[in-house]
Amino acid sequence: MTAGWVNFAQVKATVCLRRVLEDYGILEQLRRSGQDHYRGPCPIHQGEGRDAFHGDLGKNVFHCFACGAGGNVLDLVAHMERCSLREAALRLQRWYLAEDFAVPPRPEVPRRGQLVTKKRERNTALSFRLSGLDEAHPYVSARGLSRETAIRFGIGYYSGSGIMKGRLAIPIHDAQAQLVAYCGRSVTAQDSRYRFPAGFHKSAVLFNYHHAAALAGNGVVVVEGFFDSMRVHQAGFPAVVALMGATLSRDQENLLVQRFRRVRLMLDGDQTGRTASHAAAQRLAGQCSVCQIVVAPGRQPDQMSDDEIRQILAQTWK
Ligand SMILES: [Zn+2]
Repeated sequence: MTAGWVNFAQVKATVCLRRVLEDYGILEQLRRSGQDHYRGPCPIHQGEGRDAFHGDLGKNVFHCFACGAGGNVLDLVAHMERCSLREAALRLQRWYLAEDFAVPPRPEVPRRGQLVTKKRERNTALSFRLSGLDEAHPYVSARGLSRETAIRFGIGYYSGSGIMKGRLAIPIHDAQAQLVAYCGRSVTAQDSRYRFPAGFHKSAVLFNYHHAAALAGNGVVVVEGFFDSMRVHQAGFPAVVALMGATLSRDQENLLVQRFRRVRLMLDGDQTGRTASHAAAQRLAGQCSVCQIVVAPGRQPDQMSDDEIRQILAQTWK
């Protein structure tokens, strides 16, 4: 068998769409709209249509009503990685199926263990940097951020060309402090709120980890969003990281426990945040000290004043 041998039918039948959506960080952007049915913004065209993307995880298929993309798990990966279907199948085989898959599959149904020997996703360093980011744009102060905070996080309004045009660019670094992506935050209510580059693996990084890990202490505050973390930093707690969603991924969990001994979870005060906080606390317990900070119902850290953030964090260990 050659290295390029691929069994399309086997890949399609054994790699479930849910897992791939999860690993791309797409699933957490979707909301459930029925049994096995999810909808939300489309990760492929990354444009208009808050509910354009539909996934049926029971049938393992997806469809976007805005850009027309659709199909099975192979089609999704081909779109995300901008590669051929054959290359998509090869990648899925490499990521999710047994490493010695270059031998013909056995006729019996693959055992569960075989499906989880997935290679960890990594982000590669960007080969460019956006220049001319305006950290004094009114949107920055409208979100309660000072110019110093904006400079510290390297954010700014981008008026150049490309997919970040007209958005607030937020640089994202990996644990080695390499710049791996920009997230584009819409500064108007019309456009989709956040735009991540295709192929970026959100679940492989924690926002601001490179800064937090470089500090002397062994405690860290974990929040959901970019602005939550910038506001917590500004309130005097620079050891803060953001999940970029509510779910703590396996990679993120590892990053936390490798570096920190004490983790304070400060997720949003909605049901999603509460549920995610409990789940994360359970997984972290036993690996480090963990405490859950209860944010008032319906609120999130970036809507709190610096004083409120200091008060709520002062109630727990520093
Ligand atoms: Zn689409």
